[in-house]
Amino acid sequence: MSTVTDQFRTVFGEEPEGVWESPGRVNLIGEHTDYNNGLVLPIALPQRTYAAARRRADGMLRLTSTAGGDVVEVALHDIAPGVPESWGRYAAGVLWALREAGYLVGGLDIAIDSTVPIGAGLSSSAALEGAVAAAASDLFGLGLLADDSTRATLASLCQKAENVIAEAPTGGMDQAASLRCTEGHAILLDCRNGHVSQIPFELTRHGLVLLVIDTKAEHANSDGQYGKRRAACERAAALLGVASLRDVPYSHLGQTLHKLEHDPELFTRVQHVVSEIQRVRDTVEALEAGELAEVGLLFTASHLSLRDDFEVSCEELDAAVDAALEAGALGARMTGGGFGGSAIALVPERLVPGVEKAILASYERKGFRKPAFFLATPAGGARRTE
Ligand code: ADP
Ligand code: MG
Repeated sequence: MSTVTDQFRTVFGEEPEGVWESPGRVNLIGEHTDYNNGLVLPIALPQRTYAAARRRADGMLRLTSTAGGDVVEVALHDIAPGVPESWGRYAAGVLWALREAGYLVGGLDIAIDSTVPIGAGLSSSAALEGAVAAAASDLFGLGLLADDSTRATLASLCQKAENVIAEAPTGGMDQAASLRCTEGHAILLDCRNGHVSQIPFELTRHGLVLLVIDTKAEHANSDGQYGKRRAACERAAALLGVASLRDVPYSHLGQTLHKLEHDPELFTRVQHVVSEIQRVRDTVEALEAGELAEVGLLFTASHLSLRDDFEVSCEELDAAVDAALEAGALGARMTGGGFGGSAIALVPERLVPGVEKAILASYERKGFRKPAFFLATPAGGARRTE
C-alpha cells in the first residue's frame, strides 16, 4: 500500500484521497461455462491490486502503474472502444461504464500497484477494474460497495468495461469474484441470473492445501482461440434451439450429443460445457459433505474435459497436472481460460514439497520455463484499504 501511495506522490505530486484494493481469483471449477450462462466456483485471492486515487475537477483521467509504462491521460468523454490505447483502457472503461449507467463520475488521478501476477490466468484485469471501481464508488459517493446487490451492479459494469472498452469478450466470473467474494468462502455464481451463494471453503481441517502453479507459459493467439470457443458454443446453442448451453440439462446430454454427431467440433464443445456445469454442482455437494477426495476427482475430470474435449490446455498445464497427480495430489486442473496461465492442485499439506519438486523436475526435463508456486486461501472482495 505504501508503494502505491509513494507512486501516487511521485507521479502526481499530491496526496491521494485514499487507497482501494481488489483481489485476483482462482476458479476452483467451472471453466468456459460463464459465457454459456453456466455455473462457476471461484475464490478471491489474498493477492490484490491497489488503487490510490484523488478526484480532479477537469474531467481528465490520469493513470500510472508500478508495472511500468508511461502515464496514461484521457478525457472522460473521449473514452471509447480501444481508447485509451494500452492497459489504461481497463481502468478507463470502468469510469465509462459508470457514466453510461448514469452515475455522476468526474475526473481522477489514479496510481496502481499489484501483487496479482499479470497475465497468469489469475485475473489481474478484473482486480484492476475492481480497484478502480471501488475508488470511484467511494470518492463520488455512489455507495456501490454497500452490499452484495450493489456489488453485483458494480461487477457487471466492470465486465462491460472489459468487453466494450478493453475489447476482451470475457464472461462475468472474474469481476464477480473480485467484488463479491467473502473471506473463507468460494462463490457459486449462476451466470444466468447473477445469483451468488457463499460456499464455505475450508481445507486446513482436512490437512489439505490448494497449490497454485503459475506455469509462466504464454501462447500466441490464445485470445483468438477464446473467441472461437465462444462462437462454437453459440453455434451449438442455435443449432440445438436453446438460448445457451445452460439450457441443456445434464440428464439430456446423451440425446443432445446424438444430434451433433455430424459435427465433431460442436460435439466435443457441448460435451465439455454441459458436463462441466454438472461437475460444479457435484463439487459444491462434495464440499458441503466434507468429501474432499471427491472434489479432487472432479478437478481432474474437469482438466481432462478441458484438455481433450474443449481443447484449451497446453503442454505446460498438462505437465503440471500430471506431475502433481503422480506426486500424490488428490486432484489437479488448469484454471482460467487456458493456453498457459495457471493450474491448481488439491494437495495433502505434507506432500507439498514433493509435488513442487516433481513439477519442477518435469518442467526441467521438458525444457519449460521455471514455474512459480503459492498456496491459495479464500480472501474477501474489493474494499477501501486506508
Ligand atoms: P489476467 O486477467 O489473467 O491477468 P488479462 O490478459 O485478462 O490477464 O489481463 C492482463 C492485462 O490487464 C495486462 O496486459 C494489462 O493490460 C492489464 N493489467 C492488469 N494488471 C495491471 C497492473 N497492475 N498495471 C497495469 N496493467 C495491468
Ligand atoms: Mg483477465
